[in-house]
Amino acid sequence: MNKTTLWKTVLAQLQVDLSPAIFKTWFVQTKLLGLKDGIAEIGCPSYAKNRLEERYYAQIKKVLDGLTKQKNELVFKVDTSIKVDKNKDLGPLFIPENQKTREPERQSGLFPQYTFANFIVGSNNNLAHAVASAIAEKPGKVYNPFFLHSRVGLGKTHLIQAIGNRIRKRSPRLKVIYCTGESFANELIDAIRSGDRSRSGKFRKKFRGADVWLIDDVQFIAGREATQEEFFHTFNALYLSQKQIVLTSDRPPREISKLEERLSSRFQGGMIADMQLPDLDVRAAILRLKRDQAKLDVPNEAIDFVAGAITSNIRDLEGAFLQIVTTAQGRGEEITLELAREILGQNRLAQEKKVTSRRIIEEVCTYYALKPRDLRGPRRPKNLALARQVAMYLMRTLGKMPLAEIGEVLGGRDHTTVMHGVEKIENLLPGNKQLGEQIRVIESQF
Ligand code: ADP
Ligand code: MG
Repeated sequence: MNKTTLWKTVLAQLQVDLSPAIFKTWFVQTKLLGLKDGIAEIGCPSYAKNRLEERYYAQIKKVLDGLTKQKNELVFKVDTSIKVDKNKDLGPLFIPENQKTREPERQSGLFPQYTFANFIVGSNNNLAHAVASAIAEKPGKVYNPFFLHSRVGLGKTHLIQAIGNRIRKRSPRLKVIYCTGESFANELIDAIRSGDRSRSGKFRKKFRGADVWLIDDVQFIAGREATQEEFFHTFNALYLSQKQIVLTSDRPPREISKLEERLSSRFQGGMIADMQLPDLDVRAAILRLKRDQAKLDVPNEAIDFVAGAITSNIRDLEGAFLQIVTTAQGRGEEITLELAREILGQNRLAQEKKVTSRRIIEEVCTYYALKPRDLRGPRRPKNLALARQVAMYLMRTLGKMPLAEIGEVLGGRDHTTVMHGVEKIENLLPGNKQLGEQIRVIESQF
């Protein structure tokens, strides 16, 4: 393996074990400068050096040693050639054989890998997909604005960028601008801070000149006064001239706290769709697609095993798969079901994040300060009944468990009781912010 590939592999493995925020902050900009006589020189931005040395030395070493089959010593060097770009997105984990770049296109900020062609459609995302493709056909004409929300790792960035990529291909004259809520806020703040009027003017002109404005993770602008003000005016200017606006967020507009009412109501003024967790078949289809595109040799049984084990979200699913692929490549072994089993056996996600009825009961009990045996027991005071219904709801939505089975693990309750419980929560959710927040917190444990 050459330096670049080796480091890419190291990062890919680390990415699986670290949260996206940590990975993005400390690791994305690192490079392997050299590896000689067991000394690995790692280039990093100056702000990251101490942290990497103190906090992540052992973790990096473990992965590197495993791949190089030798004991290495790590030396971190500040690399001034690294341009710190705090808005840089992580981009796709898997890159098809014929496109070896992981960089977004400069002008539009879009990753070419995020296309409709490699987006698997299932019952979890078919509405969102249909709306997105209609928009890509006729930007500004059908659904405007389009607000897409889901939990993390379920394909929002992929889909919003697919819209941009298709429009750019079809109508190269249309100006597509992709930004994240975070980069919009940062760019604006930089422009204001510079005190340079022409810079603020340029900022304004850039966004208001868009034919298609794609804003990913818009929730980030909430709570920021100047940013929301500017956003509101940009939104209106574009909307009034019938330019297409697409927004994504980790939750529906009315649940974004500290989002100004005038923005929230604009966001709700068009089409809203969400995406849910994919079922087993969709998960397996996604991995098969990634395998075929990257021209990897992985038997279906190994793929199906991974798809069965990782249920938390699609990014985790891809991460676990990538971990198996890179470990096998590092060891020079073929990928088999046994190897997948072995590696996933050590995977944190497969261990901790697995959605089981037991874990759902545990997490619900932790949240509401109850005992599992209360939840399973016959008593029905109001607070217990609600917690029990939340558990039913989560087993149904997160765990995709059959009603009868849910009844069974909750102390032998009838499946109709479970159905009513789930419906009760579903009916309460739209009007009950507090309950929505409670469920979100519990869900975030998975
Ligand atoms: P989000 O923006 O919702 O956090 P991403 O769009 O970053 O999620 O998706 C995470 C990963 O999962 C990406 O690599 C993406 O390509 C992949 N992915 C998500 N949904 C699908 C899908 N339906 N088909 C294929 N790949 C998908
Ligand atoms: Mg995203």
